[in-house]
Order: sequence, then structure tokens, then C-alpha cells
Amino acid sequence: MSKSDYYELLGVDKGADEGELKKAYRKLAMQYHPDRNPDNKEAEAKFKEINEAYEVLSDPEKRRLYDQFGHAGVNQNMGAGGGGFSGFDGFGGFEDIINEMFGGGFGFSSSSSRRNGPRKGADTRVDITLTFEEAAFGVKKTIEYLRTEECDVCHGAGNEPGTETHTCSACNGKGEIRYSQRSLFGESISVKVCPTCKGKGETFDTPCHQCKGHGKIKKRISKEVDIPAGVFHGANMQIRGEGDLGQNGGPRGDVIVVLRVTPHKQFTRDGNDIYFDLTISYAQAVLGAEVMVPTLDGKAKFVIPEGTPSGKQFKLKGKGVPVLNGYGRGDQYVKVSVEIPRGLNKKQKELLEAFDAEMTGKKPSTEDSPKPKKKNDKGFFDKMKDVLS
Ligand SMILES: [Zn+2]
Ligand SMILES: [Zn+2]
Repeated sequence: MSKSDYYELLGVDKGADEGELKKAYRKLAMQYHPDRNPDNKEAEAKFKEINEAYEVLSDPEKRRLYDQFGHAGVNQNMGAGGGGFSGFDGFGGFEDIINEMFGGGFGFSSSSSRRNGPRKGADTRVDITLTFEEAAFGVKKTIEYLRTEECDVCHGAGNEPGTETHTCSACNGKGEIRYSQRSLFGESISVKVCPTCKGKGETFDTPCHQCKGHGKIKKRISKEVDIPAGVFHGANMQIRGEGDLGQNGGPRGDVIVVLRVTPHKQFTRDGNDIYFDLTISYAQAVLGAEVMVPTLDGKAKFVIPEGTPSGKQFKLKGKGVPVLNGYGRGDQYVKVSVEIPRGLNKKQKELLEAFDAEMTGKKPSTEDSPKPKKKNDKGFFDKMKDVLS
């Protein structure tokens, strides 16, 4: 299923500023919020899309990547299926944005009650540095990170195995406490996790020796990651369900892999095209030559045509970076610059002067330095300059 354009989704044009984005988002978020459209799957899907669009466009860096590369720029899903931006998996994240925008206390009773329900675990960020070639052609990398796991001694209960637990007196074992609250839509009941038992409904006197009563521990995870061909510096990859353990049976968070690409010694990259600067001698520029140039696929034969001026750019079709999640490759550009030799010896100068004389039909100078020439009588050096500039 192809994704809709973020700008179209929010109904703003490409040049929309922060204020316009926020205004458009606010209007649509009010219209499609699940609390106002109960049991309406279409509204829920739309709400999710709007939030994703806003999350990307309100972040200058993500917006820049989106403008340049489209959806591939801001969201590469590694796993099958998948979709959506990290942190926007459930509705938990929306609540914070809505509250931030509307000053809190908005009375989204259903999202409030989710506080004690299943919640997605936190996302984990892992940075990977790739070489230019690895980014171009893809690579398998092993990442290591710490993530929250259930304690394997108490199995999440928090108390030392075999010790007693009591019903929490603060919440009577319910794990949550209800508050009555007045809001825009009238009175609403908001539900908070019991601070005494942290939602478990039970308390204990002897905490587990391994997790100190938290029921969770941090574990080092090592994982192989398949990085696709064509990724670029600053791109994010989302590995679903490999982050921290969720709360109250909620799904795990994701791992967000942030890609860094080290610059190449010889190539620069712009999108899927790569650029190479080739320095040639003026004889090669004038006479033409066959040289070898480096490409991502190894050295390739390259013919410099006769009379090539400095600054001329040639295209090697299909020698660029493979298109991310697509077909084909970009191109390689060879930009020629001609080197003018300095500090010629006597013989070299005489040869050039002889050549110059041949070109202009005058006798070569017998002196060490060439004679001053008339203004519109172009000598060899001037002609070379014309060719080279
Ligand atoms: Zn434990
Ligand atoms: Zn309690």
C-alpha cells in the first residue's frame, strides 16, 4: 500500500511554516481523534496518518529528508509488514502531544484509562557507522545495546521468590486510582496508576535480590542487522519489537538504528549520484587520452575526448548508488580539471615555444623568455588558456 503525501494529508502546501503546520494538525487531530470517533476504524487510521505526517514535518531534519527522499527518507522498515513512525505505534504517544498542544487536562478519558493498560516499551537508539561502499551496496552489521527484560529470578513479580506479598492498601489491589476531573467536555473520570504498588495491586517486604524489586533488568543484546543498499547519512531504520519490554503486557519498543556514513576519499555523493574529480595533464586535455577512473565497481576505462576544457563534466551512466528500496542506480559524474605545469626547464620551454611558433607561424624565440606579443595575437599559452578555461 502506498503512503499518502504528508503535505496532502495535512492539507498544507510545501512551503508551510511551523504555525501553519500546527494549525492544520490541530484541526485534523480534533476531527479524527478516536475519542470523538468511537469504533470508527477509518478515523483511527486517518488519525494515525495525520500524527505521523505532523511528527515528520514538524521536525526540520526529518522534513528535509522527507522533501529530498520522500517516505524512504524518513522511514525504512526492515521487518516485513511494519509501518508508521517510531513512537507512534499506539495512542499512548498522542496523548502527550495533544496535552502539550492543548495545555493538558483535555479529558481524553479513554487514553487516560490506558495508563494502567498495556503500554509499549521504550525505543532504543543505536548508531551505526558505515563506509561509503557499505551504504551504497548494503551490508550486514552486528549491533549491541542494552534493553529492559523481565527479571529471570522473580519473573517480573519484584519480590524474592518464596516471600509473601500483600494486597496494596492504597488501591485495594486494583492497581489504579480514579480521580474526578472537570474539563472542556464536562466532568470526566481520570484514572492513574497507583503510585504505591506501581499498578501491580500488590506490595511486598522482601524485594528480589537481582532486580531490587523492579521486576526488570537490563540485558546486553547482540543482533545482526541487514542494511539495504542505497542508504544515506542520517537515515533511520526501525527494527520493530526489539526494544524495551512493554508495560502491563504491552508490546516491546523498537530499535531505531541511526546510520552514519563516513566520507569517501575520492567520491562525493548527492542522492544516488556520485562525483569524482579527475585531474589530467594539458596534453591529455588537448590531444585526448584513455585513462582509468575509479568507480564503485572498480576501475573503468574512460576516454577523454580531444580538446576537453577544464571543468567539463562527463556522465558514467548507472555507475552511481543503487536506489534504496527500488530499482536501478544513479550515475557517476567525472569532473575534469586540467593541471597547468609550473617550473618548466629550458628544454621543456623550448619545446613549447617551438610548438607555439608552429601554431602561430612565427619563428621560435632564441631568448630565454618569450617575446612580448601583440594584443590580439594569441600565442600558444593564451590558446591553451582558452582551451582550459
Ligand atoms: Zn527480580
Ligand atoms: Zn496500589
